[in-house]
Amino acid sequence: MCGIIGVVQERGEVASFLHQALKRLEYRGYDSVGVTTISNGEIHVKKDKGKIEEVHRKLNLDDMPGSIGIGHTRWATHGIPSLFNSHPHFDCSGKIAVVHNGVIDNFMELRKELAEKGHHFESETDTEVIPHMLEDAMKTGMDLEDALRLVTDRIEGTYAIVAMSTSDPEKIVCTRDGNPLVIGQKQGANYVSSDIPAFLPMTNDMILLLDGEIASITPDDVKIEKLDKRARIEREPIKISWTADQAQKSGYPHFMLKEIHEQPDAIRNTLRLRAEVIEEAAEIVKSCDRVYLLAMGTSGHAAISGRHMFTSLTGIVPTFELASDFSDTVCDALSEKDCIIAITQSGETTDTISAIKYAKRFGVKVVAITNVVGSSVTRLADHTIITQAGPEIGVAATKTFMVQLTALGLLVLAVGEKSGHRKREALQKKRAALETMPSIISEIISRNEEPARRLAQMLYDAPSLLFLGRGISIATAEEGALKLKEIAYNHAEAYSAGESKHGPIALVQDGYPVIFVAPKDETRNRLIGNIMEMKARGARIVAVIERNDEELRTLSDDVFIVPESVEPEFSTMAFVVPLQLFSYYMAVKKGYDPDKPRNLAKSVTVL
Ligand code: GLU
Repeated sequence: MCGIIGVVQERGEVASFLHQALKRLEYRGYDSVGVTTISNGEIHVKKDKGKIEEVHRKLNLDDMPGSIGIGHTRWATHGIPSLFNSHPHFDCSGKIAVVHNGVIDNFMELRKELAEKGHHFESETDTEVIPHMLEDAMKTGMDLEDALRLVTDRIEGTYAIVAMSTSDPEKIVCTRDGNPLVIGQKQGANYVSSDIPAFLPMTNDMILLLDGEIASITPDDVKIEKLDKRARIEREPIKISWTADQAQKSGYPHFMLKEIHEQPDAIRNTLRLRAEVIEEAAEIVKSCDRVYLLAMGTSGHAAISGRHMFTSLTGIVPTFELASDFSDTVCDALSEKDCIIAITQSGETTDTISAIKYAKRFGVKVVAITNVVGSSVTRLADHTIITQAGPEIGVAATKTFMVQLTALGLLVLAVGEKSGHRKREALQKKRAALETMPSIISEIISRNEEPARRLAQMLYDAPSLLFLGRGISIATAEEGALKLKEIAYNHAEAYSAGESKHGPIALVQDGYPVIFVAPKDETRNRLIGNIMEMKARGARIVAVIERNDEELRTLSDDVFIVPESVEPEFSTMAFVVPLQLFSYYMAVKKGYDPDKPRNLAKSVTVL
């Protein structure tokens, strides 16, 4: 899940660009960092374990000569985070440098073979077989590009690989299969990276590299070919509308807080999606017999909330499945009459991509919802809705969750029009309500920031918390608990409030925090019953309630307030915001960096 960057330019040094680009990619992993440049035919390397700024303080990453270089920020899969396991990795002569994102499944066999031939390994990584295999191939007279083609014939697994060699010191060569790589193009300089924000300050012109393609990049040319066919592929650059500023903190202490504050704009921009984009997706969904919502993590919570929207407004009851378990659950009970709505913010989530590939074998139709233009999911899906959150850098998803819910809302309304389950006027009223969400979310953020900070002062050392809701609010509770676990490391569980008395209530004793998501929808009276049960056992009741809900205000020890006008189908969008803020301030109070939670990376590209 690491971040890769490569740059080759006509003149000038690349070191400080590489350093800054890696910072913009750090959300992808931060176990170690490394950069390599070539200058006057010599390789220069700086790498070590730790976050980029720690390594920079030690080694000064800005001070390296050369106008060509590659860099890597690692999320370890094979071998502990350490200096020796840090990328770039090299061949025996130290002249071929490689950075890699992904996993080489057959590395043990390859490593044994190479070791028998006399290659010396410095790391425990799967990656290191690549430079040694390149070395062997180049010894037979091949150039780096052909050597990389040969290597891809032997390696199995998923990868994005970027390599350079002193034998051709003005060229970067790269290829991918299953992991992302995008190319940035500019006069006199070209870039390759795992993600667009890395080169955004330099260029908005992006060229996609697809699985099974290889690119040779020099300062004035980007040559793309298929791995198995030597014919140049002409591909026009795509103009990216994101701005470099969006990938900066703009005065906020953390990206996560900035991204929470950006949610109203993100919704607004997603609401402006062209009607045909939604219409086409709705057409696919409506024409199918069975609808599956597939996703992981926070996107999974958007899917669960979306399921309620579907049920309420279209009469269709989609099945939600974790993408990772989809094939095991449905086995071969799929057909071309089924459709999947796959939700992944990065468009690269391997669990989701694998589930889609599996389903496509049965002719299942796929509608994707993602935030990233050109990502893998967009190429697999029959139709894609691109959400408009802009780049999200904080590892814990906030604004991308919000736009997934917005896109689902639009899709559900369009399917509802076709299904006739609700009257047209009722749907129009819902649509108008969705349009008001940006201003509602703005109000919720400004009202709840201080209460969230105050509650965090009181609850930061709670060893465990329960998050409860009913109906659509189960999704909200799940997301609240996940955020807290992800960034503040408090143990938190979410349950259906109805289920809470079948076990979890045994945890509750004096002062145990139980957080209720409590909109005034049809679940409310039963939820009050659950609040009373928890109160009777001494729980500290925290509730997210509507402004005019005096009854719950009296029953609760602490409250977060949201406006009363939110339609039940969109309540997750509103009620989750105080929980995002609460998690953020819990992490800050405990001295953790909410943007870089331990063990996590933003786009999960391993199974
Ligand atoms: N498998 C490689 C390693 O452990 C790359 C992991 C990554 O994608 O960051 O070093």
